[in-house]
Amino acid sequence: MVGAFVLVNVKVEQSTVARRVSCRGIGLHRGDEVEIALSPAEPDSGIVFVVHPEANATPVEIPARVASVLSSSRATSLTDGRGTTVSTVEHLLATLYVLGVDNVRVEVHGTEIPMMDGSALPFVEWVRSAGRVAQRRPRIAYDVVRPIEFKDGERSIRVEPHPVLRISYAIDFDHPSIGRQSLELPSVDETRFEREIAGARTFGFEHEIDSLRAAGLAIGGSFENALVLSDQGVLNTSGLRWPDEFVRHKVIDLLGDLCLLGGRLNGHIQVERGGHSLHHRLVHGLLAQMDLLVPVSRHGELPPSMGAGRLQSLA
Ligand SMILES: [Zn+2]
Repeated sequence: MVGAFVLVNVKVEQSTVARRVSCRGIGLHRGDEVEIALSPAEPDSGIVFVVHPEANATPVEIPARVASVLSSSRATSLTDGRGTTVSTVEHLLATLYVLGVDNVRVEVHGTEIPMMDGSALPFVEWVRSAGRVAQRRPRIAYDVVRPIEFKDGERSIRVEPHPVLRISYAIDFDHPSIGRQSLELPSVDETRFEREIAGARTFGFEHEIDSLRAAGLAIGGSFENALVLSDQGVLNTSGLRWPDEFVRHKVIDLLGDLCLLGGRLNGHIQVERGGHSLHHRLVHGLLAQMDLLVPVSRHGELPPSMGAGRLQSLA
């Protein structure tokens, strides 16, 4: 079955949210208040953004797949290829990935996902508030069968076979508040994500703000939704949530970008000085070489104990 594209794991069913929930927040780039909502979706439909760029515009569907990526610069932006975009999707996608929501419609009244507090933690509570239901359809999961690596100067990303998703992430900034930080996650589960990763905020440098704003970006950025660094240190008076909050945030970004694979990945991902563009290269690379991936299980049937056509609450 090497090279097979339809990959199934009989142990775990797909799931969707149990009910519609909405929330509001400020978008980082335009600075507008944006409303988003999660709604249940059919099995095998994946995560789909339903974008309403203007109040009366016809909504546009953009699947959360790497083929939809428009930009990897600073954040992940997706496009339908015909001019409609949705930006800063990665913190919500990381949360959906870790909380096991495979199929969901994400309505966006605007063109970006709200920044909330710059972390994924508000999304964890929000997604949980929607409840989760299993869908009697095997979850798509991939095992990596041999290593693949991409390099860009001192930056690199690699994945090698491992029974579960394991992440080793390192960053290296010549800055007194960051320096070299590395994080090892032997596995990724909801509890560990909530306690150790989700609360880490996005960060940016004071000296970049003027040029970003001149380009019409980061208008909504503030100390409320990002860590801002001067040359000397962190400017937020509240300080850091962890001394290595920066590398923890990079793990959120990686998980959000990994969601664009369209299935779960079992493998050991090792990243050196990574960012969105390297994350996207890995996902593209895996999908371009499907012989690197094999089914978690080759059986397509669910065990009879799961019950035909019955929704099981996971929440
Ligand atoms: Zn981020």
